[in-house]
Amino acid sequence: MKLIRINLKTNSIIQEEIDINSEYFLFGARGLTSNIISNEVNPHVEPLSSENKLIIANGLLAGSPFPNSARTSVGAKSPLTNGIKEANVGGRGAMMLARYGIRGIILESISDSLKVIIINEKQVELKNAQEYEGLGNYELHSKLKSKYGDKIGIYSIGPAGEHLMKSATVAANDLEGYPSRHAARGGLGAVMGSKKVKAIVILPPKVSNVPMHDLKKFRETSTPFAKVLAETKQAFSTFGTPMMMKGMSGYGALPTKNFRMASFEKIAKISGEALHDMVIKRGGKKRLACSPTCVIKCSNLVVDENGKHITSSLEYETMCLNGSNLMIDDLESLAWIDHYCDDVGIDTIEYGGTCGVAMDSEKMKWGDSERVIEILNEEIRNNTKIGKIYGNGVKHIGQLLNAKRVPQVKGQGLSAYDPRVMKAMGVTFATSPMGADHTSGAAIVSRVPRQDREYGEYLDDEHKLDLSFELQVYTAVMDSMGCCYFIGPSYENMELIASALNAMYDLELTRKDVIEIGINILKTEIEFNRKAGITQEMNDVPDFFKREESNPHPLKFTFDKSELLNFWKRLEAHEY
Ligand code: SF4
Repeated sequence: MKLIRINLKTNSIIQEEIDINSEYFLFGARGLTSNIISNEVNPHVEPLSSENKLIIANGLLAGSPFPNSARTSVGAKSPLTNGIKEANVGGRGAMMLARYGIRGIILESISDSLKVIIINEKQVELKNAQEYEGLGNYELHSKLKSKYGDKIGIYSIGPAGEHLMKSATVAANDLEGYPSRHAARGGLGAVMGSKKVKAIVILPPKVSNVPMHDLKKFRETSTPFAKVLAETKQAFSTFGTPMMMKGMSGYGALPTKNFRMASFEKIAKISGEALHDMVIKRGGKKRLACSPTCVIKCSNLVVDENGKHITSSLEYETMCLNGSNLMIDDLESLAWIDHYCDDVGIDTIEYGGTCGVAMDSEKMKWGDSERVIEILNEEIRNNTKIGKIYGNGVKHIGQLLNAKRVPQVKGQGLSAYDPRVMKAMGVTFATSPMGADHTSGAAIVSRVPRQDREYGEYLDDEHKLDLSFELQVYTAVMDSMGCCYFIGPSYENMELIASALNAMYDLELTRKDVIEIGINILKTEIEFNRKAGITQEMNDVPDFFKREESNPHPLKFTFDKSELLNFWKRLEAHEY
């Protein structure tokens, strides 16, 4: 496997081999992005300066038949959190890069003019991209497909990335060909925009350079696992993440009205079941895979009443932050908000949180979906003064408006889980080196990292620090493999990953070795953040979650500050 290092100032493109003796041999995806940032980026650099680097990497299991293993990690020093950041995404690119024998691409410095990077059988080349300047992701992808063919893989930025907005995403095209998948969190699209790279286009490889030592042995692990996942995730496949709308409202944990409440009286109108019925009735699609090798297929494709594509895939976090959180109660508006976020290249979670603060500060009316869409499609797209206010995230607008209720941690907006109720998720928000990112350790009600341990009732604090910690470690492993965490960040699955890696790379790893991959990634990230000024003292949620009770459960966030301060000492004393 190799790394492609592209200096956008000098146009130099260098290939670096990753073999068994390389320091990066056992680093994939998040493990690779975080280690390269730690080794090569000064923690004090300004995130949108030429000294920052953007790394795009696939996982250690990419290119293999391991289920759900073709995700891409995008990493850099984040303009939103000012710390280390990784966001991962489905789409086509990871599998294609793996087949070219490419594990990662490092973008360095800043180009003089807008560029597109083309990867084909013969070479990696930089091309002028002036013709694509200012385009939304939909038009951009359509033009790139006309030029390079329908089967290309794409990573790209929309206008928000070009305008260096701190909520900007890196888009990837899905298996239906739409720019619907986004490495959304942390403003990594702004880092790509700062380098003046509009898109990376990967032409389909003709042969595969994926290493596979013993395919038969590999399949002895991956095939039964894929079968179990396909059989046991049927409801999730049918309804996808939107099924959590009703569930979270019922649990009293659904952020509503800028986290003033945690259940929504009009939930039936924007539930996963309502979305399912709308999609089926209009002839949209369900049970879609967002990337190759996915056996769960939780994605959807939403069409209008004439059967024309609006968006794909409409997910729980988008529906919650832009639905109940803004008191918007119609699915049509939510589908269009998702569409315009994808087109301009803005994180739906950060945007919903930002609008929530604006509505709470009476700058917008609750439920005003037209204005929410107008800000995306006109203000952010055209980089107006208002666009800059709404494109730079929850913390930014909170400071501008001197708001008292600003749901963010370490600069990143809270995702769709009330931390007073979803206790372990609250711990993840408070402690993750990524800021308030649910994907770092998604402690939802049913998810436990070990079957042989007790984690207490979801409304109690008991065992929730350990629950969050274990999920964060196992999730770091999954992220490093390029695997979707819906296959289960669990102690049990660490054994399967060890077996798969051994068969693929001719290794003799144990479960303990694999867990240490996750522990080392977290140590690296925490140390980078410490040097960057993102310290353990910042492990906390905003004060209003400690002051105000949630509703309907009269609960506050009650973890002791010292418990959060010392949370990561568990990395030194972890029991395998
Ligand atoms: S389970 Fe869903 S999010 Fe995960 S890889 Fe499959 S389609 Fe994508």
